[in-house]
Amino acid sequence: MMDSSGRTAVPSIKRLDEAVVNRIAAGEVIQRPASALKELLENSLDAGATSISVVVKEGGLKLIQISDNGHGISYEDLPILCERHTTSKINSYEDLQTITTLGFRGEALASMTFVAHLTVITMTEGQIHGYRVSYKDGAMEGEPRPCAAIKGTQIMVENLFYNVIARKKAFKNPSEEYSRILDVISRYAIQKIGVSFSCKKHGDSRTDIHTDSTSSRTDAIRAVYGPGVARELVSVTASDDDPSHSIFKMDGYISSANYSAKKTTMVLFINDRLVECSSLKKAIEVVYAAILPKASKPFLYISIAMPPEHVDINIHPTKREVSFLNQESLIDSIQKAIEAKLMQSNTTRTFYTQTLLSRSLGVPDEAEESMPVQTQGGRNLKAPVNKLVRTDPSNPAGRMLAFMQKSLAGHVGSGNGLVDTKPVEMPMEDTRKIMDLTKNEEFAAEVQEDQTGAHLQNNKVHKIAQMDASSLAGREALEHNISQANEDSRNELTTTRRLVRQRRNLKERAELTSIQELLATIDQETHSGLEDIVKHCTFIGMADERLCFVQHKTYLYLLDIVKLRCELLDFGCP
Ligand code: ADP
Ligand code: MG
Repeated sequence: MMDSSGRTAVPSIKRLDEAVVNRIAAGEVIQRPASALKELLENSLDAGATSISVVVKEGGLKLIQISDNGHGISYEDLPILCERHTTSKINSYEDLQTITTLGFRGEALASMTFVAHLTVITMTEGQIHGYRVSYKDGAMEGEPRPCAAIKGTQIMVENLFYNVIARKKAFKNPSEEYSRILDVISRYAIQKIGVSFSCKKHGDSRTDIHTDSTSSRTDAIRAVYGPGVARELVSVTASDDDPSHSIFKMDGYISSANYSAKKTTMVLFINDRLVECSSLKKAIEVVYAAILPKASKPFLYISIAMPPEHVDINIHPTKREVSFLNQESLIDSIQKAIEAKLMQSNTTRTFYTQTLLSRSLGVPDEAEESMPVQTQGGRNLKAPVNKLVRTDPSNPAGRMLAFMQKSLAGHVGSGNGLVDTKPVEMPMEDTRKIMDLTKNEEFAAEVQEDQTGAHLQNNKVHKIAQMDASSLAGREALEHNISQANEDSRNELTTTRRLVRQRRNLKERAELTSIQELLATIDQETHSGLEDIVKHCTFIGMADERLCFVQHKTYLYLLDIVKLRCELLDFGCP
């Protein structure tokens, strides 16, 4: 900037108006509706609440209302409640070293009053009524008015950023802001399992988050993040108490290799404080990258406790980030613990195939029946047997035998050249003809009774009756053939089974020495390995009409079923 004489003008320094200072500072703490909610939630937890409910309007921009059953705020403190740097949580800087509360800066409520309208209703234990008071720019608007209340505090933040137009415009999508609010509550809900949380949109009767105060950690994860995550959780712990490395204790729940999501959810608490740590997140993602399909991400809940003096919680106005001693060594230990846990749990991995060709190839119905599958979480999942690649070889449903008997039955029926054993559908037309027949018979009788009736007509009716009767007879014959075929195939099956059984137990019924010798030779020459494979293999699926995949131990085999059947049953082999 130049003055009239052409020299550069030196700008003079002015003291900013306090309201301006406060509004600028407020922008640091309250960046968006979800950061206001986080501060309010932490205040309720600091007040010892065991029940916290939240109501939100327009993604929090119109209203955030939070009600808790904590210790409340005493009447005397109400005038300075929303002044900047007023707090009940620390007295001196040194207190920060041993702090156990979530808040300590005395800035949150004050900040909110500079960018929104704030109303408080509160009642402490033993009072006969509560107080209601509103705040603007850090100060009370009028005197607190007595009102009906229950023990605890309710805070309403309305019209957030009403005086920060540029900020308000940045939030175009209220539903995105609402999901950020839900995200904060979800994280606290799984950390603070002694506290019940609920959150809903204003005017809705349905809650979007609801947890009970008695929920276990996994129950809380299930309630908040869904059964899909909860089913695949593996608990993990790690610790170190060597001062030359790091001193910490970690416990958490991580998703197994069976779970994958589009992005990583890492719920991280350090000394009960919700924080973010991108280096830890990256280190864990590296471990998962080795076992998860490409672009799949895990769910992680990690809670770390360490001596308060090792953590600096005061490096960010929103307290979102913390720094702590021996970060590298701690991350390294956690990474190793997670890696080891995943390697262990990897053995119980379940695979699902896509729909196999089996349907078109006529794999028997038994294979379609759902078998309960034991998952790691102990939950029974219904999964069709033919969709499992690996099944338990001791489980008969997964064995070749179940499939072979049925295919054998099919062959017996059609092999006789009778009728296919599939149910035969009667064409619509035939059924109609049969129904017509009864009508025609009555009609014919009527005509015969009527002596004046035309012979021609009678004849015609008779013809129709004959024709329909033949179709009826045809149907009966067909039905008879079908049932005969079914009966035959059943008989054939029984015979075959008996034969097979006899063949299997030849030793018992071999009376002739020649047969005994033959059996002894077979016993000697049988390939024991092959026998074991056939006896204990697990059916996987059909490769084509003749070849099928089976698994024996860790090997995959391709079996020619027709040849195998010939070998085993000596049954009309080509
Ligand atoms: P901080 O939490 O850092 O102390 P805040 O501005 O968030 O600062 O809150 C100021 C004070 O108001 C707190 O120290 C606490 O004493 C009181 N307070 C705020 N919210 C609640 C609440 N829900 N229940 C009881 N007291 C509360
Ligand atoms: Mg606070």
